[in-house]
Amino acid sequence: MLKTGMTLQNISTMVKDKSIKENEHKKRALNILQILSQTKRKTMLGEFQEKKLPAFQMLIATILSARAKDETTMPISRTLFKKYSTAEKLAKAKPDDVKRIIRKIGFFNNKTKSIIACAQMLLDEYDRKVPDTMEELLKLPGVGRKVAGCVLVYGFNQDAIPVDTHVHRISNRLGLVNTTNPEKTEFALMKLYSQKYWRLINDTLVHHGKTICKPIGPKCTQCLIQKLCHKKGVKK
Ligand code: SF4
Repeated sequence: MLKTGMTLQNISTMVKDKSIKENEHKKRALNILQILSQTKRKTMLGEFQEKKLPAFQMLIATILSARAKDETTMPISRTLFKKYSTAEKLAKAKPDDVKRIIRKIGFFNNKTKSIIACAQMLLDEYDRKVPDTMEELLKLPGVGRKVAGCVLVYGFNQDAIPVDTHVHRISNRLGLVNTTNPEKTEFALMKLYSQKYWRLINDTLVHHGKTICKPIGPKCTQCLIQKLCHKKGVKK
């Protein structure tokens, strides 16, 4: 039933206005992505993808990289894979030996447990193969949506939007989304961008987050997209 005083014409105007606003929002989002993607550098996973790292190693490197710097994770992953290059080898590894290799990465105790358990599960339940769907990846120890998304993008060349703290923070500051956690951001970004752009988002925003739009003290005056940014939550 129509609210008192509301005519069909009012409703049609409201729908039109909403759709114009949505289109403008999408245009701004695309513009931002296009500008920033010109400046992006390859992340560790981007480099591993270029070197065609096997999916198993991509998965383990991604688990190790959670809340750790690429510069630390990259050489340590390489050392680890010299000794434990496959699920068979890693499943049989002694935890103390793995800990010794990865000890400079944060949360190395938990990560040791996760990667050995993950290798074991691949042997027991996945015929040694890394699954290539979000649903199956999420069943592996140490794998959340962000890790699974990275494996899909960098290990299997699939369309996904891995959302880490950088992607979540910047998307909200820009006013592209208005969300309270990375999972909600992932779904909001999927709605905002057409699928062909999904793979660009992680690399692009992570690089921007590390260099310009830092968690504390974003360098807004040096930012190429300052005019397009809503600067939500940023102290002026
Ligand atoms: S203008 Fe500032 S807040 Fe907005 S994206 Fe750039 S650095 Fe981040």
